[in-house]
This record gives sequence, structure tokens and C-alpha cells, in this order.
Amino acid sequence: MTYATVNPYTNETVATFANATPEEVDAALDTAHESFLVWRDLPVAQRVAVLEQAAEILEENRENYASTITLEMGKISAEAAGEVDICVAMLRYYVEHGEELLTPRFLPAHGYGDTDVQLVNDPMGVIFAVEPWNFPYYQVVRITAPQLTAGNVVVLKHASNVPQCAARMEDLFRKAAVAAGIDESVAQGLLTNLYLPHDQTEHVIANPVVRGVALTGSEKAGGLVASLAAKHLKKSTLELGGADAFIVLDDADVDKAADWAVRGRNWNAGQVCVSSKRLIVVDAVYDRFLARYRAGAARLVAGDPTNPSTTLAPLSSEGAKQTLQRQVDDAVAQGARVEYLAAVPERGAFFPPTLLTGISEDNDAFHTEFFGPVAQLYRAKDEDDAIRIANDSPFGLGGSVFSKDIRHAQQVARKLDTGMVAINHPTIVAADIPFGGVKNSGYGHELIDLGLKEFVNQKVIAVG
Ligand code: NAP
Repeated sequence: MTYATVNPYTNETVATFANATPEEVDAALDTAHESFLVWRDLPVAQRVAVLEQAAEILEENRENYASTITLEMGKISAEAAGEVDICVAMLRYYVEHGEELLTPRFLPAHGYGDTDVQLVNDPMGVIFAVEPWNFPYYQVVRITAPQLTAGNVVVLKHASNVPQCAARMEDLFRKAAVAAGIDESVAQGLLTNLYLPHDQTEHVIANPVVRGVALTGSEKAGGLVASLAAKHLKKSTLELGGADAFIVLDDADVDKAADWAVRGRNWNAGQVCVSSKRLIVVDAVYDRFLARYRAGAARLVAGDPTNPSTTLAPLSSEGAKQTLQRQVDDAVAQGARVEYLAAVPERGAFFPPTLLTGISEDNDAFHTEFFGPVAQLYRAKDEDDAIRIANDSPFGLGGSVFSKDIRHAQQVARKLDTGMVAINHPTIVAADIPFGGVKNSGYGHELIDLGLKEFVNQKVIAVG
């Protein structure tokens, strides 16, 4: 594993970066801890002033920040700029609400006065964040904004294919802190980027200054890293993969649903944990949906991600392309039918928009996440059958229900074993809505108060 920028549109290796040595890792953890000791005692208003500065820097340099995402993992420029925008919104959420989220609760306890039992939110220390490349800024800000607000500091191990995005995030929070009047010695330890090799993961987690571990990524990495956290008795949160069901009921606006499915399955080249991976359509509207999906996906234009007319980006790497092709071939070998719906350039890590149908329940594909523009389409007999297929999955991240009857769609949503359900939309990701899944999609939450409080000591102070 090497930290390297390889442009997936050209396959050119742009830069490589040396792994951190064990000595550098220890020094970085010491610095982070020294920062924490000062940071935790600053008033919340002073802490969130750093987030406001970070938001302003991102806003002023939106396209410039976006271009590093496009360079390293191939995201279409407009989508990369949209990612910068949601980072700004997440930062501002805590600027606006940080103080209120950290306000102590006073518990009415027998025998005490109204304010004699307090539940206060104390920071815990250094939080170790392991993050994926598919939203290289959003993922970092999603953990860093709430944790800095809470008074913690963050040490980041980012994915090895987005080293420059990782460095830019470190630099952003350092600059923002200095601009907000924080001493340089403290500013340098708020968000620390480490080019950490896997074999040093335990070394970091074992360090006593590290008090929590947050990982977003695959089930495999999640299981490994969380088991190390458990071994060293550190709390962890896991935001893992998904195979979201996109249920279309017979009273849905079918054309609108199919158009959303094209977008929901293919944006970010299909590399989204909550993209619409399993399209489950009731028999009555299946044929119409299929025709519209095919036509919509066929109109996707693969090409240079910096060209405004491009609507399908390359995958993040040649390796990702090979993995996805292997998954499709395996599905077909086990009886599925495949259609490649549009042509893509030969050069670069492109994968065509693809449709898999006829996937039987004993096909491995039925229970597998495809991380690219490959839609699985299922014909459900009726609503109950659609819910059954949706829940027959190891994953439980997000999902969608399409119906003109919103109340009914909300009832169907309650029957899905997932952490999030969007009605008449592929997925709703926003700064003020929490994020998290169940089953093999992980545990814990990110964003709003739920995310912030994952790593605070909710300490009881009671008068005797
Ligand atoms: P991945 O291989 O698990 O990588 C994610 C992060 O974990 C990277 O930083 C990776 O570093 C690191 N990692 C992997 N193995 C590790 C180990 N043994 N020790 C320490 N760190 C390790 O995930 P991916 O395949 O690149 O990302 C896609 C997956 O993430 C999909 O399953 C997707 O659904 C999921 N995801 C989930 C969410 C969510 O919020 N639920 C959001 C986005 C993505 P290296 O790059 O150095 O290997």
C-alpha cells in the first residue's frame, strides 16, 4: 500500500508520498494530545470560530479545493464543488448549534433540587478517524466538525489514493485555527494527517491518548479496526457499506422514480455507500420502469470529469474497475443477465452504466455491494414482496420508497431494516440530518448531536 495520487481519468501517477515512520506517528500523537489539553478548555464559541474560518476558506476557494478531489479520485467537477458546499454547511451547522448541543442537562432526581444533578458533555481526547476516498473532504469534515466542537482533536488516516485531499484538510483546519486567533502550537494538533501504513493501526489505537476510533469504509476494514479498538477498550463507530433498496410501488410516479434511479445509482460513478444499488419494482409498473431506466442510463456521457457535459465519471482506480468487472462476471456466471447501457472511453478507469436482471436469491450478487454504476433490478410480486427482498440483505444503511401516498410510504419505511429511508428521493444527505446504518452497515451515528455525542463523556455530577 502506497500513498499516491493517480489520476483515474489518465491513469497517470502524479505524486507519491512516504509512509509515516513509527517515530513520526508517536510525535504526531504527542502534538495532538498537547493541543487537546488546551483546546478542551476553550469556550465553545472560540472553538466554533475555527469552524467558521474553515467554512470561509472553503467558500472562497471552492473550485480550487474541488479540483484536488477530481484529480485524485475522478469526481465530476460540479459534484466535487457540491461536496465542498456540503462541507461548508456541516461546519456552519456546528457554528450555529455547537453551544446548544453541549449545554448540560439538569435531571429531576429524587431528593435533589432542580439543578443538583447535571449531565455535562466533556471531551474525551484524540479521536482516530479512518476515512474512505469516495467523498474525500465530506467524510473528514463529517467527523472533524463535531469533534472539534466537542473539544476533542482528530488524527486522520485517510485512504491511500487521496493523499493530497488529506493534506489539504489538515492545512485547512490549521489555517482556520490561526485565522481565528488560536496559537500556532495548538492549531497544529487539531486535525493531524498521517500517511499511516496498515501495520501501524494498532500502534495508534493502543496509544493511551487515543480515546475513540471512527471508521468509514468497507465491512472488512471496519471489522478489523473495530476489533483492535475493542482489544484496547476504546469506543468505536462504524459507517460501512450498503446495498440500498429503491422500492417503487404501483402508485408511484414511475417516470420520475426511474429518472431518480438513474441519478441515484450513477452519481459519483456509483461509488456511494447510499446509492440506489437494488432497484425493487412491483410487477404492475416494472416494464415501464425498466424501459425508462434503460433509456436514462443510455444517455449518460462518460468522459473528462472536468468537462461540464460529462455525466459519468471514471471509477477511482483501475483496481476498482477490475474488481467491479469480476463481480459482474461472477453474477452472470451464476445466472444473472447483464446489459451494458452506454459506451465509455477505453482509456481511464471507466465502467459503463450496467444493468443486472434475473439475479436469483442464491446468486452471490444478491447479497453483495457493487461499488460502481451497476444497478441490480428486481421484479417484486407486490409491496410485501418488495419489503421482503429489501430486508433480505446483510446491509442496513439507507433506502427509498416511491409512492404518491406519502403517509403510506412512511409506513413502508418503518418496515425496512435500515438506518435511513428517503421518500420519493434516492437519498437525503444533509448537514442537519444524522447519518448511520444497522446490520453490516455499522453502528453509531455521524452528524448533529448524535454524532457529536458519540465521543463525549456524558458525565454525571450529582450533589450528595
Ligand atoms: P476500505 O478499503 O475499507 O477503505 C476505507 C479506509 O480504511 C481507507 O482509509 C483504508 O486505507 C482503510 N483501511 C483498510 N484496511 C485497513 C486496515 N487493515 N487497517 C487500517 N486501515 C484500513 O473501503 P473502500 O473500499 O476504499 O471504500 C468503500 C467502502 O466504504 C464501501 O463499502 C462504501 O459503501 C463504504 N462507505 C461507507 C460510508 C458510510 O458512511 N456508511 C461512506 C462512504 C463509504 P487504505 O486506502 O490505505 O487501504
